[in-house]
Amino acid sequence: MDFVALPKIELHAHLTGSISRQTLHEIWLKKKAAGETDLDDPLLVIPEGKHDYNLETFFPLFSKYIYALLTDEPSIRHATHSVLQSFLQDGVVYLELRTTPRPTPFLSTTQYIAILLTTIAAFEASHPALHTRLILSIDRRHDFATASSILDLALSTPDVVGLDLCGDPAARLAGEVALFTPLFERARAEGLGITVHFAEAETSASAAELKTLLGWRPHRLGHVIWEDADAKREIALRKDELCLELCLSCNVHAGMVKSGSGFDDHHFGEWRAVEGVKVSLGTDDVGIFGSPLSNEYRLVAQHFRLDDPQICALAREPIDHIFGGDLEKERLRKIMWP
Ligand SMILES: [Zn+2]
Repeated sequence: MDFVALPKIELHAHLTGSISRQTLHEIWLKKKAAGETDLDDPLLVIPEGKHDYNLETFFPLFSKYIYALLTDEPSIRHATHSVLQSFLQDGVVYLELRTTPRPTPFLSTTQYIAILLTTIAAFEASHPALHTRLILSIDRRHDFATASSILDLALSTPDVVGLDLCGDPAARLAGEVALFTPLFERARAEGLGITVHFAEAETSASAAELKTLLGWRPHRLGHVIWEDADAKREIALRKDELCLELCLSCNVHAGMVKSGSGFDDHHFGEWRAVEGVKVSLGTDDVGIFGSPLSNEYRLVAQHFRLDDPQICALAREPIDHIFGGDLEKERLRKIMWP
């Protein structure tokens, strides 16, 4: 099968983690020439071919480096355009990009989001094969006021389709994420799609946390690695309304897989065995982990022995669980059942 030609839906992609090293390098070169940065070359900081970032080394890459490079409008436009181009070239026909709104020394949070949305709209006008929608992320480390301002921004921006909880799973343990409960309840009541990073690491999979997150009645769950038996049962019971966003390469390279350490041990196989549970394969951070969505489908075919009709059926599973609305679902049905 030609996995690039297969029309694909990507629902779990973080914008800044999806930027290629080459694009970061191009942005760095321009800034260096203009005397605007003291940072080291991205090709030295994140060498080509290095994909074994774990939960300790992954998050500082962003807080200490990538965010420091993407501070101004031209850099953010360049990076976003290049991310969209990569997904398009990989055969993605519908993309939900997520980002944590942040101010930079030159831009307010609102300006940052406006730049993303105008870049996405311009790209779609000239490349209609790829439709892209934006999800805003609340980071587990945020305080309530910051998280609340992100919800306000999401609700006041018609082109934002969802709200996510992401960030270092070692932050806010033992049910402390309940701090955000009123925000996610309001987001859901006001019609935003809800997706949360769920049981991403053993540390963030306490019974209290899982109960809190499922209590938000999310529409989608990301990663779903360390859930307990009760949470697993509840997910299986709500299989018609929930979709799991599973990411193979990211989990394997970051050593997040529960049993064993290879692709064969990934919990995709475990969830695949639960009748009726819908799965959406995602890349998470293709710029860091280096595996485009076409390759994630290839890995699944190879390690879990899915034949061509099973791969096509898997690619269609996310359609009913996108946040982009009914017209978009209709478009995808036409593309994916030619
Ligand atoms: Zn993620």
